[in-house]
Amino acid sequence: MKVFDVVILGGGASGLMCAAHLNRHSDLQVAVIEGNTKVGAKLKISGGGKCNITNVDVRPIHFLGDEDLIKSTLKHFSKEDLLRLLERHGLEPVIRKGRYYFCPKSSDEIISILKRLSGKSKFFYNEKIKSVSREDGGCRVQTDRGLYQSRHVVVATGGASFVTLGASDIGLKIAREFGHEIIAFAPSLVGLTLQPEQFWMKALSGVSLPTRIRVDDRVIEEDTLFAHRGISGPAVLSASLYWHKGMISIDFLPGQDILRLCGGQKKQISTVMNLPKRFSKAFLEHLGMTDKPCNRLSSDELERLKQLHEYRFAPAGTFGFSKAEVSRGGVKSDEIDHKTMQSLKVEGLSFIGEVVDVTGELGGYNFQWAFSSAVVAADGIMRR
Ligand SMILES: Cc1cc2nc3c(=O)[nH]c(=O)nc-3n(C[C@H](O)[C@H](O)[C@H](O)COP(=O)(O)OP(=O)(O)OC[C@H]3O[C@@H](n4cnc5c(N)ncnc54)[C@H](O)[C@@H]3O)c2cc1C
Repeated sequence: MKVFDVVILGGGASGLMCAAHLNRHSDLQVAVIEGNTKVGAKLKISGGGKCNITNVDVRPIHFLGDEDLIKSTLKHFSKEDLLRLLERHGLEPVIRKGRYYFCPKSSDEIISILKRLSGKSKFFYNEKIKSVSREDGGCRVQTDRGLYQSRHVVVATGGASFVTLGASDIGLKIAREFGHEIIAFAPSLVGLTLQPEQFWMKALSGVSLPTRIRVDDRVIEEDTLFAHRGISGPAVLSASLYWHKGMISIDFLPGQDILRLCGGQKKQISTVMNLPKRFSKAFLEHLGMTDKPCNRLSSDELERLKQLHEYRFAPAGTFGFSKAEVSRGGVKSDEIDHKTMQSLKVEGLSFIGEVVDVTGELGGYNFQWAFSSAVVAADGIMRR
């Protein structure tokens, strides 16, 4: 049996940051157990290989979960703290679209910093975590290759999406074994499939446009991408976070008023819409209209055109876990100490990152959460 002061389960974003923080500020003996042959599989492929690290606007409104926990965690290790740490170690992220922080060249830049900073930890690769139990005043971890004993175990095993990258729901199983309440994982930040009435969008595969999507009381302004299976792109992915089987509404021409644009014009409707031709054609057809000069539109047609700003429908489902960037749900946060991320049921057991019931929109929010919660847990362990 191997004995350590801290055993971290999972060498992803949160596990690496937790190990790095413990190594930088303490002499605790830290082990990281990882099922893959390398750490940071999701960091590596994220953001198209450039890792969208965080966002210019990191406020709780961009997350789903316990607002108090999110607020205190993001305050403890903020976006500014993260950027300062990375800059101190030679990484100056670039801002894209005025809001998203990315690695300038490749996600390997952030992975290599986290690996370097967690270098004092002992890494165990290719080892599948099976269970955790309470023994001898600490926690015992059983893997498919051995046993570990430690006073502190940090569950950083992430969500269930992208099984091909090593994802599993072991974190939820561990939580459940200890009597924690959990919310089952559901695919999130994922494309949405369509009902037959919306199949007209399928013909638009490859077209992308700026949109404003409303789901319940949330409004997302970003691009929507039409795909063969349904709708995707940044706006839809973020909207999927808040979507629970109901209506969504899309404004395909945000910030403008189609009726004002048309007002008595001799120009064709498709010209004043100024949207990709394939879209205007398919949309007008769907409304049962033909393209014609605006001044020849009947009042009924003008009424139908308003749908361009409020196209309401109920998506059929999602593209599923294999395409989802994150899993919504996780270990319920009211049974976690907000100041330490430690379980309120089991001494010495903490939960960080995606396994906790906190999920961010698209745009770097999930890494920020993974890093911030990791630092809160590491500081909590050092205080204990
Ligand atoms: C394609 C894609 C792109 C993304 N892009 C972004 C982005 O640009 N910005 C952003 O903020 N977020 C992005 N995300 C989300 C982000 O990757 C996750 O939210 C984040 O990695 C969560 O960190 P974590 O440490 O909780 O989990 P992970 O980083 O997933 O780490 C969990 C680790 O635990 C290991 N593990 C799991 N089960 C076991 C087991 N039984 N035994 C041993 N090891 C196990 C896994 O192999 C993994 O290494 C993206 C996700 C995907 C899938």
